[in-house]
Amino acid sequence: MTLPFEVLLLDIEGTTTSISFVYDVLFPYARRAVEGFLEAHLEAVAAEVELLRQEAAAERARGEDAPEIPASGAREAIVAAAAASVRWQMERDRKTTGLKALQGKIWREGYAAGELRGHVFEDVPGAMQAVVEAGGRVCIYSSGSVEAQRLLFGHAEGGALTGWISGYFDTTTGPKREAGSYEAIAAALGVAPAAVRFVTDVLAEAEAAAAAGMQVRLSVRPGNPPQGAHGFAVVGSLGAALD
Ligand SMILES: [Mg+2]
Repeated sequence: MTLPFEVLLLDIEGTTTSISFVYDVLFPYARRAVEGFLEAHLEAVAAEVELLRQEAAAERARGEDAPEIPASGAREAIVAAAAASVRWQMERDRKTTGLKALQGKIWREGYAAGELRGHVFEDVPGAMQAVVEAGGRVCIYSSGSVEAQRLLFGHAEGGALTGWISGYFDTTTGPKREAGSYEAIAAALGVAPAAVRFVTDVLAEAEAAAAAGMQVRLSVRPGNPPQGAHGFAVVGSLGAALD
């Protein structure tokens, strides 16, 4: 197979993976596991708990009813308050550093224990393999952290896919709706933007990548919200994104 690109750059949610995986699997797991995780690892995550404490104090200063986390006292009281703080933030869809860092560690333990498996649509492994065997590269660009990306693909349903993936990018490279982020990714990969084909389900991301000069395919998967009018080629599988 001759590929019409050098790098296949993939979004995750709505492209390789169902959007509901994050909301129906990962978030409920973190809510369920947080108290036990803190009981087992409170001392090891003291820095993350301190961030949660500061975030709760900042929320309270804004008039919110965020649970306070005591700085000292009975261990079980600190564990219970920190767990309540995590749940409080998650109910409000906060994206704070302390919450995200702790969630990442909870998910890492869940994946390692075999209690979590990364969802990927069934056409994904074969398409990744086809790209690599044809001499191309597969890379990921997602708003989830690089660590979360590696965990998802390293513990994917049906087996690890990390062997097919040669690069991971998250929003530390730049926001997904800005052309400059895609220019930076192409530069990091050592190729012209036109040699990269980006697949995403979000129109604003497709437009940003196209503005940077990348090839673009718009992913339509079960559960994806409808997008506005556009002129991008639409694909229902990754296999279709290779032509
Ligand atoms: Mg997406």
